[in-house]
Amino acid sequence: MNTNELWQAVLGELELKLSKANFTTWFKQTFIATFGETEVVIGVPNTFTKTWLEKKYHKEIHNLLQNFANNNRIKNIIYRVETKAGLPVSIEPMDIKEAMVENQTFSQAAYYQTFPQIVQPSKQEVVEVSLNTKYSFSNFIVGKQNELAHAAAQAVASQPGNVYNPLFIYGGVGLGKTHLLQAVGNELAKQNPKAKILYVTSEKFTNDFIQAIRTNRTKEFKDVYRTVDALLIDDIQFITGKEGTQEEFFHTFNTLHQNNKQIILTSDRPPKAIPDLEQRLSSRFEWGMMADIGSPDFETRIAILQAKCREKNYLLEQDILHHISTVVQSNVRELEGALNKIIAMHQFKNIVPTIETVKPILASFQPIKNKRNISPRLLIQTVAAYFELQIEDLLGKSREKRLAFPRQIIMYIMREEMKSSFPSIGNELGGRDHTTAMHAYEKITNMIAVDEKLQQDVESIKQRLYV
Ligand code: ADP
Ligand code: MG
Repeated sequence: MNTNELWQAVLGELELKLSKANFTTWFKQTFIATFGETEVVIGVPNTFTKTWLEKKYHKEIHNLLQNFANNNRIKNIIYRVETKAGLPVSIEPMDIKEAMVENQTFSQAAYYQTFPQIVQPSKQEVVEVSLNTKYSFSNFIVGKQNELAHAAAQAVASQPGNVYNPLFIYGGVGLGKTHLLQAVGNELAKQNPKAKILYVTSEKFTNDFIQAIRTNRTKEFKDVYRTVDALLIDDIQFITGKEGTQEEFFHTFNTLHQNNKQIILTSDRPPKAIPDLEQRLSSRFEWGMMADIGSPDFETRIAILQAKCREKNYLLEQDILHHISTVVQSNVRELEGALNKIIAMHQFKNIVPTIETVKPILASFQPIKNKRNISPRLLIQTVAAYFELQIEDLLGKSREKRLAFPRQIIMYIMREEMKSSFPSIGNELGGRDHTTAMHAYEKITNMIAVDEKLQQDVESIKQRLYV
């Protein structure tokens, strides 16, 4: 038996044990390069295969070689990247990725674990990289606050690289940015299972890049990031202040954009408002389409709750849905959290939810106070408590400085935050003239620009008001 026959025998065994996809991917282009007394060198088409064989099949290969060669002095097996004439050219890592998908052994996490030479994320980051199929367009509820972002995301999903590039989605926490971003990714993957779609947080991008520099693997880094069909970067605002990373991202962006590859970014604020973001990046982020997502209104909150109930196969009466939507206003994540809490508590106690059983569960979800909902009375109480003064004194005639100054702060906040008219401000503060209110507003506005202590006082008062 020559080495070729020996290897064919080994492969024959492996083929029986492995799925076709797995076998083809990992073994089709392998051969015995050199065969020594104690050492066998196996030629493999690329480093990915090398890593994979070392990690997953080494023991098996070792045993089979010893058996078929009838030689248990074979101690070392070395996998070397090498091609043999007549063999097809090396398969690309992304093909391997597909084979892994087909074989259902794949998760993007596994991909990176197997190929740490591409990017070596820490364990925790590995979890973040994959697209999560639970985020789809079909379970995304559209309301006024997100219809633009939703429409833009759908347009991009149907014509990647052609309509809006980049698509920049921004808005506060828990409003569905990640959901939309991943929905596009999942849709693209569905339409074209061969497309290379990379979803990462900007932190992961940063970490991968730093790691690549540290390990001299910037080429591999570029091979991954600059060859994708769609690059989805979540929470791009965290890329700030890291110049090397911003530079790399700039080039990644340009390469992909020039090749009509789709880029989608999310952020908690618009590009211009991201501090320390290089101007050349923020202007590029505005090239395509910017779409914001706001807080869902009451009707949308109800619709979201109904959808989530259907998903979970749990029935809640309309009045309960109304109650939850009234109490939980901040964002969709909190809304889901509230619903999950309600379901869990009732299932645990094995009771049917009613308004009475639901109310105490929602006690911890304070509705955020709308600025306009804050009454002058509450403001006056808050300021009085803050400066440890009596309300009557604040509203009284005395012009003592210890009273006059807090009074002016109240007037300022009423104007600035509650948008009250000057006459009504004067009125609320013990029937003062509107010119007094105007003067107070001007004075505090000027002072606050230069007086840090005053800034802090006003911020603290606002916090007490809104929390
Ligand atoms: P963000 O990335 O903006 O912080 P996420 O996308 O993580 O927010 O959304 C938080 C949660 O709310 C997720 O579970 C998401 O599925 C859900 N969600 C947000 N918006 C919607 C929506 N319009 N319809 C259905 N679920 C939504
Ligand atoms: Mg998010």
